[in-house]
Amino acid sequence: MITAMRPVIVAANWKMHTTPADAGELARTIARRTADADVVRIVCPPFVALAAVRDALADAAPPIAVGAQNVHHELHGAFTGEVSAPMLAGLATWVIVGHSERRRDAGETDMLVGRKIGRAVEAGLRPILCVGEQHNERDAGLAEAVVDAQVRGALGTHDAAVLEAGGLVVAYEPVWAIGTGHTARGADASDMADGIRRTVADLGWADGGAGLPILYGGSVTSANIAEFLAEPAIDGALVGGASLQPDEMAGIVARAAMTARARLDPIATG
Ligand code: PEP
Repeated sequence: MITAMRPVIVAANWKMHTTPADAGELARTIARRTADADVVRIVCPPFVALAAVRDALADAAPPIAVGAQNVHHELHGAFTGEVSAPMLAGLATWVIVGHSERRRDAGETDMLVGRKIGRAVEAGLRPILCVGEQHNERDAGLAEAVVDAQVRGALGTHDAAVLEAGGLVVAYEPVWAIGTGHTARGADASDMADGIRRTVADLGWADGGAGLPILYGGSVTSANIAEFLAEPAIDGALVGGASLQPDEMAGIVARAAMTARARLDPIATG
């Protein structure tokens, strides 16, 4: 599999942690501790802290991107408490869509997730589509079928070329691994990434989906990230709990940078 054209990405999902008063300082610390131009770094704070994090990272070198954790599927209207894609202009350049916590707590369906992706791409936001199976589904041998259905349900109505141009990223996040301290095995995550690329290829993506970046998410730490980045099919991580700890982020991004350099120049890096 050709991986050289895909970036290595580490995205931090801060979930419902930090406030506008402390998020900027944490973002600055993480930016400084992870400064590496070979890794695409994204910090996704709560909506209310987006402006603080944007301001804190404005002068970061190398640049570090800001993402939102969700976006509404309509542009505007009577949707109390919601945030639409155009409202994120100037605050974020990425957005997480279809996180399992939103599927669980807000009842988001694949169809709704697909509409959010459409809004994100129209607004110039790069979506990170989260997919993943439950533990009982994996036990029943259904993991690949479940994720295939999620990807088809979210992406199937979109033009593949538009999603590719819009910079879509998929995060494979087995639900049983999120926030539990349990992780998938690297080889299983790799198989799932291969399956996701087969699905998008079937949906019309160029080159068998070879250009689609796929992240692993689920209890990633500096101690276990290597297992996932050793897999050529995996292009980085979506990190939850550990992303609030600068030491952890420093270790994760340092390992990601090794992979990025090895992919850019496999001969020089051995
Ligand atoms: C996540 O929020 O997407 C996630 C994977 O969380 P954690 O790393 O805490 O499991």
